Amino acid sequence: MDAPITGKRQVARGMFVIGMRAPEVAATVRAGQFVNLAWDSGPLLRRPFSVYRSDGDNIEIVLKAVGGGTEQLLAMEVGDRVSCLGPLGRGFRLAPGARSVVLISGGLGVAPMPLAARDAKAAGMRVTWVHGARTAAELCAESDGEKVVWATDDGSRGTAGTAVAAAPGADLVLACGPNRMLAAVAERWPDAQVAVETYMGCGTGVCLGCAVPLRRGGYDRACTEGPVYRAADIDWPALPSHLPYAVTA
Ligand SMILES: Cc1cc2nc3c(=O)[nH]c(=O)nc-3n(C[C@H](O)[C@H](O)[C@H](O)COP(=O)(O)OP(=O)(O)OC[C@H]3O[C@@H](n4cnc5c(N)ncnc54)[C@H](O)[C@@H]3O)c2cc1C
Repeated sequence: MDAPITGKRQVARGMFVIGMRAPEVAATVRAGQFVNLAWDSGPLLRRPFSVYRSDGDNIEIVLKAVGGGTEQLLAMEVGDRVSCLGPLGRGFRLAPGARSVVLISGGLGVAPMPLAARDAKAAGMRVTWVHGARTAAELCAESDGEKVVWATDDGSRGTAGTAVAAAPGADLVLACGPNRMLAAVAERWPDAQVAVETYMGCGTGVCLGCAVPLRRGGYDRACTEGPVYRAADIDWPALPSHLPYAVTA
């Protein structure tokens, strides 16, 4: 789908939200799903981004520049066009009967949380969002009225320490952030649902570039069976923990 850029705003140090008109994605996207973007003179492979918000015919993504593709995206102007494939992947599944949910995000892991909060509220759940970053300047602090707990490594805003340490329990735990953070979530809440980061190519299950190692053995494709998994199902030591989605500086 051809998607014109509709806006760009800064939400934290080095972190920007880009809006685009993508009615078909906006109409059906669920929290934790992503779009795979391409554009003229862009990289050979599409670049995957979680859908951050959707409103009417528009969706938003949130990103930092970590390489050539993200730098080009951030240099785009309103009216420039991208090719937007999506919504892709399996998002968070809101367990029937759950009355409370805690959303835990670190750095760019904020990306799926506004939609997760929206869907959980629509399902009648009590929502607490715990969001962490290295410093206050790196916290993306856009919330929609849910209870929020901030955590920073240096204590410059909210609790000093990690978002995982600051999180209360709940019927349902949904998390996104650096893989190291998600591994800590898995230790504390094996049944949590986590949106993982991997390298990715086609985004549609064909190229096998986004393999996720599983504890039961073998691999899944993050783009098709994921990117959301039950936390304890992932073989965390075998999953790279240094990917740029995790960048918070
Ligand atoms: C399902 C999913 C959702 C994502 N959502 C977001 C999001 O909401 N916001 C956001 O900022 N980023 C997100 N990412 C990561 C984002 O796709 C990569 O940061 C981006 O593709 C890097 O492109 P680049 O051209 O700027 O970097 P490159 O110049 O290609 O490389 C720079 C660095 O990025 C690494 N890299 C390249 N492609 C990927 C990739 N597909 N995934 C991970 N690392 C990669 C390279 O190894 C290198 O270290 C997501 C990734 C996945 C798989």
